Parts: sequence; C-alpha cells; structure tokens
Amino acid sequence: MMSADTLGRTITARARFSAPGRGTPTGHEAWREQAACLGADVALFFHPEAVRGAARSGRTLEAKAICDACPVRLACRDQARAAREPYGIRGGETEEERKAWLKAQARRAAAKAKREAAA
Ligand code: SF4
Repeated sequence: MMSADTLGRTITARARFSAPGRGTPTGHEAWREQAACLGADVALFFHPEAVRGAARSGRTLEAKAICDACPVRLACRDQARAAREPYGIRGGETEEERKAWLKAQARRAAAKAKREAAA
C-alpha cells in the first residue's frame, strides 16, 4: 500500500512500519523508544524513487543529522545490518552504505574461509 505525506511524497506501508521511530517496540527492540527519529518525518528516512540529485542529498543529510544525535544509533545500525534491511537510512547509514558494508563483510568472511582451508 502506498500513501503520500503532506508534501505529496510517496511512502510505502513497509517503510512506515520499519522506521525505527514507528510502531510498538517489543522485547529486544525496546531501544526504539529512545529513537531520535520518533515523531520525525518518515519520508526523510525512506526517500521516494523519484527523488534524486540535490533533493535526495538534502534529505539524506537531514536524516543523517538526526541519526548523529541519536542515543541508539549503533543498535539501530546493527539491527538494520543483521536484518539486511533493503530500504531506508538506519543508524546513520543509507541503504547503499549498508549494502557496501554487507558486501565487504562477505568478502572478508570468504577470504578468511579460504585462508583457513589452505592452512
Ligand atoms: S539511528 Fe537514526 S534511524 Fe536509527 S533510531 Fe536513531 S534516529 Fe532513528
């Protein structure tokens, strides 16, 4: 399901649900109650496909500034990495930065396995 925010930007239902400052935190995700993005515009963290260039960069910087001041940034980043979250800025990382980290992590694991097999 898609909807639009007050500026007409399209936001998916998944983005609304998966934003750290949204939904009801349970158990091990209680850190979400301390999220600096609670009440922030979710569209900052999940940019619509059509937003590119300077407009996208501006939104990304705005979201990252909120993350920079967030007391649960590392928990948020690690949870997004562990879940291989494909969308959104989480823990100060864009989806592209998260994908790059995951790829680098996979390369390191493969290299380690290769070294151990050769030993
Ligand atoms: S690190 Fe950013 S996305 Fe994660 S909870 Fe904090 S403000 Fe929200």
